[in-house]
Amino acid sequence: MAEEKELRYDPAAIETKWQERWAADPKLYAAEPASCGKPKYYVLEMLPYPSGQLHMGHVRNYSIGDALARHMWMRGYNVLHPMGWDAFGLPAENAALKNNTPPREWTLANIAAMKRQMQRLGLGYDWATEVTTCLPDYYRWNQWFFLRMYEKGLVYRKKSKVNWCPECATVLANEQVVDGCCWRHETTLVEQRDLEQWFLRITAYAQELLDGLDKLEGWPEKVRTMQRNWIGRSQGTEVDFFLEGGTAGPSTAPLAENASGSAQDDSVMRIRVFTTRVDTIFGATSVQLAPEHPLVKAFCSADPELKAKVGGLIEEQKKAREAGNVGAIEKHGVPAGRFAINPYNGERVPVWVANYILMDYGTGAIMSVPGHDERDFEFATKYGIEIRRVIAPAEHGAEEPVLPFTSEDGVLVNSGEYNGLSCDEAQRKLQEIAAKKGFGEATVTFRLKDWGVSRQRYWGTPIPMIHCERDGLVPVPDEQLPVVLPEQVAITQQGGSPLGRVPEFVNTTCPKCGGPARRETDTMDTFVDSSWYFYRYTDAKNAGAPFAPATAQYWFPIDQYIGGVEHAILHLIYSRFWTKVMRDLGLIVNDEPARRLFTQGMVIKDGAKMSKSKGNVVSPDDMVARYGADATRMYALFAAPPDRDLDWQEDGVAGVSRFLGRVYRLVMKYAVMAKEGTADSHPFRKERGKDGAPSAGSATEQRLVRKLHQTIAKITQDFEGRWHFNTCVAAIMELVNDLQAADAELASGEIPAAVVDELLRSLVLLLAPFAPYLAAELWEELGEQGSVLRAPWPVGDPNLAKEDELEIPVQINGKLVTVVRVAADADAKSIEAAARSDEKVQARTTGKTVVKVIVVPGRAANLVVK
Ligand SMILES: [Zn+2]
Ligand SMILES: [Zn+2]
Repeated sequence: MAEEKELRYDPAAIETKWQERWAADPKLYAAEPASCGKPKYYVLEMLPYPSGQLHMGHVRNYSIGDALARHMWMRGYNVLHPMGWDAFGLPAENAALKNNTPPREWTLANIAAMKRQMQRLGLGYDWATEVTTCLPDYYRWNQWFFLRMYEKGLVYRKKSKVNWCPECATVLANEQVVDGCCWRHETTLVEQRDLEQWFLRITAYAQELLDGLDKLEGWPEKVRTMQRNWIGRSQGTEVDFFLEGGTAGPSTAPLAENASGSAQDDSVMRIRVFTTRVDTIFGATSVQLAPEHPLVKAFCSADPELKAKVGGLIEEQKKAREAGNVGAIEKHGVPAGRFAINPYNGERVPVWVANYILMDYGTGAIMSVPGHDERDFEFATKYGIEIRRVIAPAEHGAEEPVLPFTSEDGVLVNSGEYNGLSCDEAQRKLQEIAAKKGFGEATVTFRLKDWGVSRQRYWGTPIPMIHCERDGLVPVPDEQLPVVLPEQVAITQQGGSPLGRVPEFVNTTCPKCGGPARRETDTMDTFVDSSWYFYRYTDAKNAGAPFAPATAQYWFPIDQYIGGVEHAILHLIYSRFWTKVMRDLGLIVNDEPARRLFTQGMVIKDGAKMSKSKGNVVSPDDMVARYGADATRMYALFAAPPDRDLDWQEDGVAGVSRFLGRVYRLVMKYAVMAKEGTADSHPFRKERGKDGAPSAGSATEQRLVRKLHQTIAKITQDFEGRWHFNTCVAAIMELVNDLQAADAELASGEIPAAVVDELLRSLVLLLAPFAPYLAAELWEELGEQGSVLRAPWPVGDPNLAKEDELEIPVQINGKLVTVVRVAADADAKSIEAAARSDEKVQARTTGKTVVKVIVVPGRAANLVVK
């Protein structure tokens, strides 16, 4: 036998070689047309913002997706695995300010750098479908969708209170305000401003967005819960209280007519309140208005003293809003000096103005029922307003509840003709009456607000609208799309839209009248870009449409979407909305973008999120240079379950690299022996393909074959849903340990060649999703010409995987005493016999009585001894 050479595992050499080969083979990772006849699989990782540098969180995200894509290729699927760039956004403008580099140039250079990093990592993307959202061939379709939504009434413009970040000098969506501060500037308080803004009517889909969550069984429950809360549906009733005096002016008029008689009389001023508990309306002892309620303005105009007090409440509310804690505001109010009439019983209750009532929630007015609502109770106690009990516990003879009693499991009391009704019944009945008499109705309200998409930024999609003095708002005609973002634009921090300072952009002609007109200078929120990018991947070069419907229909929904949980509400609600709009435009047939969603954990170091300021950033480039891409990727999968946070340890990467070295030497040893003709004395390869008949083999052979099939079964199952890739890598390590321990038997020829062949080939195939470079190299060394990606995934044989013996832990009085080996299919009786005959068990039971024996076959035995 030839002398064994110590082979060195050189990841840099192996990975450079394969990276070049893969780059020269664009078909390798390309999706095939639907006509290929294979089942399709669309695996997608969230596209990155091109900051210029991949971070470890990206590496982890992409390693998960790439392992899955490779596995599915090997399972014979037609896989779509694309990548692109969420390339508009503020950092490009900040970089322009700092380095005097135009945003486009900066962004494209960053994309090139990150693409190189991805290629070096060996990520299997189909670059022919690459999408870059800042290029006109993409964003023209943002504009096209905007116009289609405008036609459908899903786009509108209104003056509204907006969240304004003074640092960004732009508007933020509610979702971009975190604890009252800007999501990008964690210490900058967000201000409220009034601005004309463009909105997308996402609320038109609120109910469907909510209902759809029930069907998204492949999404993490926590994401679905976050979306449910964000949509925030509440069912309730709107009821009109009648303002005593009938008009908003000074209260000189006599008491209004009785409630039911005046319901249709428009001269009576109404205060429409929203409540989720109309069943408690007989307990309403005041009506409370938001300080910015129109009626309050009217009251104030005649009452300077009230005006000053209300001004104070507005100020308090504004401060609380800016601090992001309106819910926790200290409740203050002032009596408006007016009274309102309860339409159900004609009762007169005082009207208050309160700082915790928001004009943009419900109707901006509530009825206060202190007996049955915590918040109202607090307020009434503070100001000495009457507290009345109108609901009693449903259970007869139950103790008088302490107020506030907020349960809906009750019956009405002190409620006139409605006494004795259950809360549910009363709600239905009272809603019916309100509808019949015209003073109210059942309603559903949502916390979800329409999506404000206007941004006063340069680096975004121009909104395709024109302002004409004669015609008002005029949409840009389709044939004039794209409205191209001008390139030479001075980025300053003056506030307002930078496009407004570019006359060549602003000044245009009206498509309707041909007269001079001005272009809209706001650009779109960048969440528009990411709301539909994954459809574009299916048809990225289409110049005549966002994508061909038939192609999208073939690929959608996405089979597996992978990204960070920080996108649980923003991106993942907007893209669900966009999907529904596209469906209603007839472009697609799916209701939801992704069948399954996986949210991976963060990568941290020394217990904290990696950040420049903490100095704990680990650069993927450094890791790849030191240990190779395979080791870096495999460590990212091995160090923690994918859904948990991963604490980066460089020792761990080094360990994985050493492990890959062992795999390399193990496989190479036998491949080299075969190649060098030592097969004369060694049967490996020569007999490949003959019947290996493992059942007749030695104990070592049987053990190795069993381990192999157990490993195949485990990893295959994990890819089918559990995704514990950390334990998959551990299982491969165990298999390699067993193979190395049997080196003498492998080298001596004691194990038949066909078996050695199966063991090594399967090992390489199992490794391929996790360490693609090494797998490609070893696959070739084993004599294969084709790509390992096209090799079929090994199939586990459950019979070969079956253990013939099992270890059963034996407990005495709950304490582990010993472990006995029994046949894998041993029944309770024989396990008990084995346990009783064990020396340690005997030592502990001699002279005592075994009162009970509990055996779970295949699992455990427990003896109760006295
Ligand atoms: Zn900001
Ligand atoms: Zn015009």
